[in-house]
Amino acid sequence: MREGEAGEAIVGAGRRLCDGGYVVSNDGNISVRLDDGSILITPSGVSKGALSPDELVRLSLEGEVLARGVRVPSSESKMHLRVYREDPSVGAVVHAHPIYATSYAIAGIPLDDPILSEAMIQVGAVPVAGYAKPGTEGVPESVAPFVRDYGAVLLANHGALTWGASLDEALAHMEVLENYAHISYIVRQLGGGRGLSEAQVAEMADVRAGFGLPPVRMPRGLSVTGNVRHVMPRTSGAEEER
Ligand code: 13P
Ligand code: ZN
Repeated sequence: MREGEAGEAIVGAGRRLCDGGYVVSNDGNISVRLDDGSILITPSGVSKGALSPDELVRLSLEGEVLARGVRVPSSESKMHLRVYREDPSVGAVVHAHPIYATSYAIAGIPLDDPILSEAMIQVGAVPVAGYAKPGTEGVPESVAPFVRDYGAVLLANHGALTWGASLDEALAHMEVLENYAHISYIVRQLGGGRGLSEAQVAEMADVRAGFGLPPVRMPRGLSVTGNVRHVMPRTSGAEEER
């Protein structure tokens, strides 16, 4: 993406995160990889719902400030840059604090119940990265192991981080994972639900591939043996109860 186009897209994404309740106050940050390999990122400490393109900061992949207006880059710049360095196919990164996903991150429960076909197609399973103090080098260290195999990660006691080939895709991952967390929470409140089988989960992976999306780790499907009624577990993981 060129800088002007990326700037407008980041401003729009910030508004969408704010309007959707994914961030409050000065929460969250958004970045896009530009055509020349540099990174355009949101400034630190302002509402991401009311940005203007001239507030954005351009960084090298190593974190050097190449161009900035009046503001400093996001305090989570190192986390964003690490995602781009881990996977050259990543074109955009989004960080937010959505209520349900963050609650799962606090509970230490990954989003990996095999319950929601659309979430499997769009984002796959979402693991929890260990706690690291926000803004420190510990955050990129905690997320790095997940970047190549997943499209998103929950940040323990903090929020969620998503990425994708484009900003639209990274934003969709954020919206879908929050929806997945919300629905998973309600299903657990209902006492559990029927999970999809291994074969059905594999079908979702095929649908994803059919859309030209790269493979990601999927929730573990429930194995089908005889006439078993599969009940979603109340904690993490996918087990079956007879
Ligand atoms: P910044 O405003 O510095 O990007 O920080 C927001 C945030 O969510 C920190 O984790
Ligand atoms: Zn944060």
